[in-house]
Amino acid sequence: MTFCRFSALLLAAVGLSVAGAGAVSAAEEVNIYSYRQPFLIKPFLDAFTKKTRIRVNVVFVSQGMVKKIESEGPNTKADGILTVDISRLKAHADAGLMQPVKSAVIEKNIPAHLRDPDGLWIGLTKRVRVIAVAKGRIKPGTIKNYEDLADPKYKGRICTRAGSHVYNRALLASMIAAHGEEAAEEWARGLVANLARKPQGNDRAQVKAVKEGVCDIALINNYYYGFMKFNQKNPEQQVWADSVYLVFPNQDNRGTHVNISGGGITKYAKNKENMLKLLEFLSDDYAQHKYAAENYEYPANPAVPIDAEIASWGEFKGDTLSLKKVADLTPTAQRIIDRVGW
Ligand code: FE
Repeated sequence: MTFCRFSALLLAAVGLSVAGAGAVSAAEEVNIYSYRQPFLIKPFLDAFTKKTRIRVNVVFVSQGMVKKIESEGPNTKADGILTVDISRLKAHADAGLMQPVKSAVIEKNIPAHLRDPDGLWIGLTKRVRVIAVAKGRIKPGTIKNYEDLADPKYKGRICTRAGSHVYNRALLASMIAAHGEEAAEEWARGLVANLARKPQGNDRAQVKAVKEGVCDIALINNYYYGFMKFNQKNPEQQVWADSVYLVFPNQDNRGTHVNISGGGITKYAKNKENMLKLLEFLSDDYAQHKYAAENYEYPANPAVPIDAEIASWGEFKGDTLSLKKVADLTPTAQRIIDRVGW
């Protein structure tokens, strides 16, 4: 007994000193500003440090990252950013805060439609906008396309968050690309006419509303389904998730609308090479699988298998529309959203 305890203590001490030595000798570093929560990114950042001995310092920024980096100017500590949604990546690029990334590794790993043509941002995971439909109230197979949501037969049966939220704005931008501005506006008008209530709350709140019978159809990003289904802290969310099935729209045509989380190298990066190494690492098998699975997303790298749980929600074809094109169309989408009052 005593011997066992002694051995355990000894092992713990050895473990500590090894970890300590590693930390001290890591002279190289890289500093990132992250909109992604620490628990999501820590596992593979640690793996990166272990592989390259480059220490990653993360500043978690919950909002206003563009303003923060803008105001810091050339003195910014940020070598790179990690954030979600094409609109936010575009905002950094538009503000002139990013620099081009040129990397054969990234070009091999990440498809062109998920990257900025100039390399100002790179998609690292994919998330898709799905339709959550009330089990038992609408037969599977009835709703097939985003376009169906404008059908007057769904009057008073749809819930969404505000149209001007980046997720809906990007979806509408993809509708503009597919059908033109006029038809996309007509669709948005039809969707708004079908809403069960004024747009409010976040994506999960729409599924809660389905559970409560406020509506039968909700638009959500796929990963929220996972966060509800496995929510130990708020088990009531498991019940919300269980009240719906997911439809991956537009399988017989352009595919389900894809958005990304991603990152890039900032204009004033002091550790540019290290940030490039980190982005390359994030585009590769190990981090791709982990990064996507932790957040119930899909790897951006098509060679990396999708996590089994996430794959079980449905196989689907994603829209391969260039995210750059989506980004460019978001101002037009916002004008439509304002006009139709979404
Ligand atoms: Fe989200």
